[in-house]
Amino acid sequence: MNTETIANLRQTLIERREELTRDLQHLQNELRDLSVEQDAEGGGTGNHFADDGSSLGEQERIGTIESNFREQIAQIDQAIERMDEGTYGACQRCGQPINEERLEALPYTAFCIDCQKFLENQAELYGAHASS
Ligand SMILES: [Zn+2]
Repeated sequence: MNTETIANLRQTLIERREELTRDLQHLQNELRDLSVEQDAEGGGTGNHFADDGSSLGEQERIGTIESNFREQIAQIDQAIERMDEGTYGACQRCGQPINEERLEALPYTAFCIDCQKFLENQAELYGAHASS
């Protein structure tokens, strides 16, 4: 993989990271607003949620998205670290080069397609992220 391709992917990763950080900030604001609304519930100012349970469900939904974002940001940081170390583009499990098209589609991926499938199967079997 040539340095120009890596430089382009690094740029993609940095932009994606900024995007995720903004979205994360936005989510945190939403979560804060939701809890403010919940605190105000007893005040008799009216509640625009259909029922009391829905804002809790909403908090849960946002919490799930938030942890997905955090996970992605962590993966991006690790990918950028691998670029600095010069190990970027090699599968973190088998050491084989990761397909370039795959890297362009998923620049933060740490695994080749075979290992990814293997790890997903493991996760399904054991109900957790398997580590090598
Ligand atoms: Zn692999």
